[in-house]
Amino acid sequence: MLDRYGRQIEDLRVTLTHTCNFSCFFCHMEGEPVAGDLLSPKEIALVASVANEFGVRSVKLTGGEPTLRRDLMDVVSALKSVGIEDLSMTTNGVLLGKLARGLKDAGLDRVNVSLHALTPEGFVKVTGVNAFHLVLDGIRAAQEAELRPLKLNYVVNSYNERETLSFLDLAQSLGVDEVHLIELHPVGLGRQAFGTHVSLDGLEEKLRHISSKVETRSKHMRPTYKLSSGTVVEVVRPYRNPLFCSGCNRVRLTVKGELKTCLYREDKVIDVFEVLRGNLVDEDKLNFLRTAFRMALFIREPNFKYGPRSYGEQTSEVARFVPRARLLRYDSRLP
Ligand code: SAM
Ligand code: SF4
Repeated sequence: MLDRYGRQIEDLRVTLTHTCNFSCFFCHMEGEPVAGDLLSPKEIALVASVANEFGVRSVKLTGGEPTLRRDLMDVVSALKSVGIEDLSMTTNGVLLGKLARGLKDAGLDRVNVSLHALTPEGFVKVTGVNAFHLVLDGIRAAQEAELRPLKLNYVVNSYNERETLSFLDLAQSLGVDEVHLIELHPVGLGRQAFGTHVSLDGLEEKLRHISSKVETRSKHMRPTYKLSSGTVVEVVRPYRNPLFCSGCNRVRLTVKGELKTCLYREDKVIDVFEVLRGNLVDEDKLNFLRTAFRMALFIREPNFKYGPRSYGEQTSEVARFVPRARLLRYDSRLP
């Protein structure tokens, strides 16, 4: 299925909660404002099954911190049961030590673990939490559980930029399969933290010199460097990047039950919460969801179309991000 710009939809990104046990200073919260009631595993699976009919083969779970959902195993098995081939999760990794094996058994295929620092001190500066070693334990547990390929997400900013090449050495010593170097997005708290944004031009230049192979992935047209050391590094550069948007194959399911067609846009959404929660039989819900997907495809458009101004138009967004302590009230599924 193609949108009006000829872009295929292959990937569904599902936000499971807005709650988090970290406070990363740049957190974009997937570009979503605060929500109340969460979707159930069955409701999420209904959306995924229709997405699957529209060509979606991969689903990524995100948040907030997805491992804080008490019913995470149910979400995973419900998604696997509707035929999602590639089911993955992005996590801060701190609970993976406890959960990795169960997640694999429930049907999760792989994980991305976010790690933006080389040392416990650097880690506290980014996340506000002293949990560097717990995350390393989580990475090892995920590897033991065969949640592979295991990828590390590293959001580059002015504090950790100089350590990036050393971080790649750490990744290699940990035996991870891939590293994603992510440009800081001006979304959510990332807007406030945008003073720490750095261009990834210089890093890409260095990567070219130490790579044996450079490729471009179709997803977001991401450049990928195979280092002579064996580590694979994918560079994620969405900021003012038409190429990135041209290769965008993603639709999002927000925590409050909307199909969201772009991380940066609050307006291009189709609300399916009432359909999912309403008193209809499943077949009717599926039919409504099919219509909603067709509409989402129709309204989907690349963000670059609006140029740099579109970032300025999102200023109201930050004000709607509330402190974590207040978010906790909303999530009844917290352990
Ligand atoms: N809590 C999980 C985690 O941190 O991996 C999942 C949710 S987090 C919002 C998803 C991914 O977005 C993480 O890799 C995180 O580092 C990244 N991220 C958060 N804010 C960002 C920003 N402003 N710019 C770029 N990436 C960001
Ligand atoms: Fe939590 Fe940090 Fe992930 Fe945001 S980026 S959801 S604060 S771990």
